[in-house]
Amino acid sequence: MPRFNIDAVMKALAEHFDRVKTPIVDLIQVQTKDPFKVLVATILSARTKDETTAKASAALFAEVSGPEDLAKISAARLNSLIGQVGFHNEKTKHLKQLPAVLRERFGGRVPSEIDELLELPGVGRKTANLVRAVAFSLPAICVDVHVHRISNRWGYVNTKTPFDTEMALRKALPERYWLTYNSHVVAFGQNLCTPRKPRCSECPVFKYCARAGVENFA
Ligand code: SF4
Repeated sequence: MPRFNIDAVMKALAEHFDRVKTPIVDLIQVQTKDPFKVLVATILSARTKDETTAKASAALFAEVSGPEDLAKISAARLNSLIGQVGFHNEKTKHLKQLPAVLRERFGGRVPSEIDELLELPGVGRKTANLVRAVAFSLPAICVDVHVHRISNRWGYVNTKTPFDTEMALRKALPERYWLTYNSHVVAFGQNLCTPRKPRCSECPVFKYCARAGVENFA
């Protein structure tokens, strides 16, 4: 097997990304260029399939276009608009708290620093990094289940938790790839390097991949 080559892998993933459906949070950034909507869609997307997040985001943004609307909408109405997403009761609670925190702590604007984003209700490291990278184009590495799984399968990192993966990638990954790493790896993880039975026989980065922990593949 050739040595792992991050430039070759990123090139192959960028080409793959251009051929498949864009992840929902990137799509919302392209469509709206609005950090508030990117933040809300990212909160909705946790533990939820992209198609479901897309439907819920469209329903919500038809009635809510900014923090003021979110403050005004009733919790019951909000919960019914996002009712298909995972953990919608919890997300409704966090979204209802969001406008006040944005107003009191950040002058009504979505902040771009990780530490500040982490102060927002319902925002953990994954969401904070994704919002910083996607909405503000600032260097950040969002590690979700796809990024954690695939970076380890490649043998690029050898870590047990998403937090350790983020720290390892911060050291190993050239900064020119930080902004796109999540989007390109997520699209790859949704289509080819899936959690169960990855499609290794048609994988464009097969020759670089250690397939660490992969026992069953197509
Ligand atoms: S070879 Fe298989 S395990 Fe490795 S990246 Fe490709 S699909 Fe994933």
